[in-house]
Amino acid sequence: MNWVKATICLFHLKTGLENFVKNGICEVHEQILSKIAKDIGLPNNSKPHCDQCTTNNVTPCFSRHKICRYDQLGNCKYHDPARPETSKRNCPNNICHRIAPELKRLHSSRAPHYMSTDATKWCAQPLELAKCFLVTEGYKTVDSIDDIDCAGLLTIIESCKHFEQKVDDIFVFQKVCMFVLRNFIHLMFKIAY
Ligand SMILES: [Zn+2]
Ligand SMILES: [Zn+2]
Repeated sequence: MNWVKATICLFHLKTGLENFVKNGICEVHEQILSKIAKDIGLPNNSKPHCDQCTTNNVTPCFSRHKICRYDQLGNCKYHDPARPETSKRNCPNNICHRIAPELKRLHSSRAPHYMSTDATKWCAQPLELAKCFLVTEGYKTVDSIDDIDCAGLLTIIESCKHFEQKVDDIFVFQKVCMFVLRNFIHLMFKIAY
């Protein structure tokens, strides 16, 4: 019976986190694309769209991003200029290279992680922006925010400044998380002893 209660607690915690992250990341996606639409002078209600730029093409070359690997001469293998799919360049639609600076602005330590994300989907899928706030490569093949575990969801909330703006929500959210976790630990203790 206690295991059932514990499972229900975890289920509610995970669902709450998923919805919180899903809504927040959709807002981030919308805000970034709206800003770019304005900056490049797209007509009202037109959404910027591009699927032609790889992550290699439109991310800055910087060792803190952990994707860059330099040879002895200091040339980055990730941003290899010899191949069109890896060379660093601006987006032909004037969109994708403008997204990385926005991600940097929103990242709590100004160093988004690009190991898991696919920039060809940045305009279409908010999930690919969410992956830039995760710290491991483990989420590369994840297709939905629902498939990100609690640790990953908490990392996104912690790393993306957009969630800081939801101070009241964060406060309530932390209280709910603590309540559920406390009950979960209490139940585990009762089961063990
Ligand atoms: Zn590089
Ligand atoms: Zn592009």
